[in-house]
Amino acid sequence: MRDRYDYLIVGAGLSGLVLAERLGSLGRSCLVVERRNHIGGNCHDRKDRNGLFYHVYGPHYFRTNSELVRAYLSRFTKWQDAKYRVNVFTRGTYWSFPVNLGTFRQFSRNPAATEDDFKAYLARSAVPIAAPANSKEAILASVGSELYELFYKGYTEKQWGRPAEALDASVCRRIPIHTGLDERYFRDEFQALPRQGYDPMFQAILEASGADLRLETDHRDVVRLVRHRHLIYSGPLDEYFDCRFGPLPYRTARYALEEIGEAGVPAGGFVQPVLQVNYPGPEAFTRTVELKHVTGQVSRSSNLVREFPAEYRPCESDPNYPIPGPESDSLAARYRELAEREPGVTFIGRLAQYRYLNMDQVVGAALHTFEKLRDAAT
Ligand code: UDP
Repeated sequence: MRDRYDYLIVGAGLSGLVLAERLGSLGRSCLVVERRNHIGGNCHDRKDRNGLFYHVYGPHYFRTNSELVRAYLSRFTKWQDAKYRVNVFTRGTYWSFPVNLGTFRQFSRNPAATEDDFKAYLARSAVPIAAPANSKEAILASVGSELYELFYKGYTEKQWGRPAEALDASVCRRIPIHTGLDERYFRDEFQALPRQGYDPMFQAILEASGADLRLETDHRDVVRLVRHRHLIYSGPLDEYFDCRFGPLPYRTARYALEEIGEAGVPAGGFVQPVLQVNYPGPEAFTRTVELKHVTGQVSRSSNLVREFPAEYRPCESDPNYPIPGPESDSLAARYRELAEREPGVTFIGRLAQYRYLNMDQVVGAALHTFEKLRDAAT
């Protein structure tokens, strides 16, 4: 570590690493500081004792419609095409999900139901709400109360610790609804995982950046010791300002890995029918992920990661999600206003922008921010 850098970058997640690499390509010197003991932020993955990948902080299914983002990341990894298939388990049944004609056939107990039958059902059941103000209204307006109760209500309450009424409409709208037999969870053109995992991809980005890295380091411990021309901050927005307006709400989760040896894996090679199973019922967890469905790894063993949502408490856990809704909107806006006026600092990423961004959006934003920094010659 030197005593002077062009950029001090707080956080070695997607935003921080992409910016370090881009700035490094111009010959700028960067120091990346990271509180955790690894890079990659919440996209971090590892291999279990049997050599099978798992996502340490819950599933990170890469997908994008952006050619720019895809081309950029493809410099650092090869890809494994992935079909992200999700079921919901409730009332003793695995349901096709997101809601599609297959789900309706199960729900109506009519395997011959057609797309027109389903559309007629939706026309009858959907609640006429012109401009849904929250996630409950958004789902009621698209599928009606029966499917809302079955798939969304319980899951959302568990996931967020609040009812769907308290969340922005955009939260539940992340999931598409198909009237045909399409079972894709996402509609993006490109859906794939880094073939060797996220970690080697992040290592390659870091290596290309030429940046210095300090793990297990709080930026507050170095910010005064290391001279820098500009700070790039990807930590929690409120924390940067010492929570002066009060804390912003975040949601987090605990992820429990189960390594399953040969004896525990049924003959078909998998312990659950698809990659991800969602649980809207009384279980304490929201979903289980069996990553082997999409990594291309062939093994008699398997693993599951079970996700237990939890309230975020500073110092006890890391925040995963901002909570978009009326509870946080005006507070987040006040912090964002402060951030815009903060000289010599760029705020970037899910936590520092306090926005529920996907991975490709984060990479896209980092590439865009790089151009602004370059043009401003900061
Ligand atoms: N959701 C739900 N039931 C499901 C799946 C999702 O109610 O079976 C809602 C829930 O509120 C969730 C949101 O849709 O937080 C977005 O789901 P997504 O799978 O995109 O969540 P993420 O993977 O970002 O945690």
